[in-house]
Amino acid sequence: MLAAVDAGGKLKMLTGPQSKENAIRLKNIPLFCPQCGQPVVVKAGDVNIPHFAHRSTFSCNFFSEPESPRHLAGKNDLFQWITKTHPATLESVLPDGKQRPDILSENIAVEFQCSTISASLFQKRTDYYIKRGFIPFWIYGGKPIERKSKFIKLTPFQRLFLRYHDQLGFYFICYCPDAKLFTIYGRLVLVTPTLFAADRLNIPIEKMVFPPSAAFSTNFSFQLEWFHDEKRKWIDHSLYYKKARSHPFFKAVYNSGANPYLLPEHIGLPVRSSLAIRNHPIEWQFYIMLDKKRSSAEEIILRRIELGHLKKQNLPLAGSMTVEQAAKDYVELINQIGEVPLTSQFSMMAKLQNEKVFRISHEKQILDKLIF
Ligand SMILES: [Zn+2]
Repeated sequence: MLAAVDAGGKLKMLTGPQSKENAIRLKNIPLFCPQCGQPVVVKAGDVNIPHFAHRSTFSCNFFSEPESPRHLAGKNDLFQWITKTHPATLESVLPDGKQRPDILSENIAVEFQCSTISASLFQKRTDYYIKRGFIPFWIYGGKPIERKSKFIKLTPFQRLFLRYHDQLGFYFICYCPDAKLFTIYGRLVLVTPTLFAADRLNIPIEKMVFPPSAAFSTNFSFQLEWFHDEKRKWIDHSLYYKKARSHPFFKAVYNSGANPYLLPEHIGLPVRSSLAIRNHPIEWQFYIMLDKKRSSAEEIILRRIELGHLKKQNLPLAGSMTVEQAAKDYVELINQIGEVPLTSQFSMMAKLQNEKVFRISHEKQILDKLIF
């Protein structure tokens, strides 16, 4: 932690250019945790930036320790960054004392999260802020985002940071204290359940405004052909590793007399909110087409989730992007482009040709609906 109180209740912070000198001075006076009131000690070694810590035998309910060097350094940087233009406090004790954001600036509660926490804890902390009128601002500080050719891979923990904005689409913000750099991943499109297309923007901390704002100036670079190629690989991979007969999607496809490789082009398309569902779009879009005479698209999706055939994606910071919204987006898209008849889908050669023709006539419409 970077904030403590002295015996008189006065706040002492270890941040800024004088933090080392301050730390040495504070070593000789009794200091306490602002939250639990237990004594804390000053740590000023070579590995970490100067900070306070509870005595090792004591565990504080409000603060998880030890804090990693990365978390301490990032918190310190972010505090310096925010206080250049806005009033802010470090590790504020909120009125009911239950939660302590890394930084509080007016009603913005900044959480620089490096270590992996569970989705339920992430949700709980987020709800806590929202209920009390604070805006939670989560910044990802964990291990680097994994890249795979032109795509990125996101762990379940990393997906918790996803937000949605009309201009940026799905996006999230990372900060790296080693490089003093913000990275914004925006216009995220789910390509397979593990791969995402994303545009990336690096902004050095001294050039970033608070609250952050960013714009992707270049054209949206996503291509439908990438999606088609990865779809084929996903089918290959799924059939290789899972028993085709036991996987609910492949079972349903075979039972309907179809071949998963040769489904019509309008099944398995990228749509704006498909991130709300953890499965491949081909899975849930096939279910919609299979049952659409009996139920609405929303009902079909919800029922398949109940049956365990589909899974919801946890999106604590993008509540408007629901599975129902995904169903709606897809139906809207289909109403616009129309369904593709199942003709001449008898071979892989024909399929590839049909996909190409489909791209020529519909790629623009599909991409326009992905990002506003
Ligand atoms: Zn404490």
